[in-house]
Amino acid sequence: MPVTIGRIEPIAVHLPLAQPLKRATGTTTTADNLLVRVEAGAVVGWGEAAAAPAMTGELLPGMVDAVRFVAPLLEGRSLDDIEGAVACMAQALYGNPGVKAAIEVALYDALGKVRGQPVHALLGGGRRDSIPVLRYIASGDTDTDIADAARLRADGCVAFKLKVGARQLREDIERTRAVCAVLGKTRTTAELGRSEVGRAAPGVLVCADANQGWTEANAIEYVRAVAATSQLDFLEQPVHGDDLAAMARVAAASPIAIGCDEGLRSARDLRDHQAIGAAAGASLKLGKLGGLLAAQRMALLCDSLGMKVNLACKIAEAGVGTAALLHLAAAIPSLQWGVALTSTYLRDDILVQPLQYANGHVQVPRGPGLGVEVDEARVRAFAA
Ligand SMILES: [Mg+2]
Repeated sequence: MPVTIGRIEPIAVHLPLAQPLKRATGTTTTADNLLVRVEAGAVVGWGEAAAAPAMTGELLPGMVDAVRFVAPLLEGRSLDDIEGAVACMAQALYGNPGVKAAIEVALYDALGKVRGQPVHALLGGGRRDSIPVLRYIASGDTDTDIADAARLRADGCVAFKLKVGARQLREDIERTRAVCAVLGKTRTTAELGRSEVGRAAPGVLVCADANQGWTEANAIEYVRAVAATSQLDFLEQPVHGDDLAAMARVAAASPIAIGCDEGLRSARDLRDHQAIGAAAGASLKLGKLGGLLAAQRMALLCDSLGMKVNLACKIAEAGVGTAALLHLAAAIPSLQWGVALTSTYLRDDILVQPLQYANGHVQVPRGPGLGVEVDEARVRAFAA
């Protein structure tokens, strides 16, 4: 008996962060996230997206309104036809990729629960059950960054992302070199032989993200100086996302692979970057691209274009958004540039049982749907 999509409810939550986040626009103490609760037959599905004014233009009250706008168009449709539901949203509502992602993830969670299958099986099957997690090195202080990197490496972490681009260039260069050194990613180590390093520390990945913070000249100075001593695996979005020509010139001058994030919103953007050599890889986020199907298509396109894939949550998504990204991470063909998760930035998660982290890896949930149980009482307590 086919199950139809029932009531779709938007829930705006303010989840306290473990520590205040300092940004150019001020200090943030909560993650403002949209949760979507979908009823379908006897099951309930959940989706999540962070408000992302600087990335997608979406603010929480508008996200709630957008869910209320599309909900009547989806309610009563067959739950089996998620592609149809996604097409219906695309036709009725321009933009709002975070809203569309949260609704689509909730539908996948519900469909997986109805069929008794995990979401990665609905996406074509899991290829990996344990995902290496990229840990942020972004304290804002060089000595703390070095200490954090050493502590995380000792704890078994294998993937690291430095935030750069917000301070003096010289300071960013020295900090990157120092963090690479403490993680064994010096040129000397590399030249001695990756296989030897590989046995001791299988594939430690270190990257940096400038979040469009540099001029072309700054970016070129950084990559040349860092590459002279260190083995940085890639640098993300050194210059403005709209300036593909500058990205291409940086990439051409850079011994380090360049990735795109802010400059990537559509398949056309990805093809444009690849065509002029502006990026060797891409950072994919569900809330930026509009959901699991869109991000999976983008990952497949990356693969066919010979580009590397990084997956990332927006700061700071809780366990629902995290689980969704893990199912995608399990299903896509290649994942060379790691997975950045952000629920560890939250003081509390909204799950009954936390996700399982060990040795720098997180387990892909195995249960039906997203494979996580939402603590609805806690959700209601954090509701706006
Ligand atoms: Mg980024």
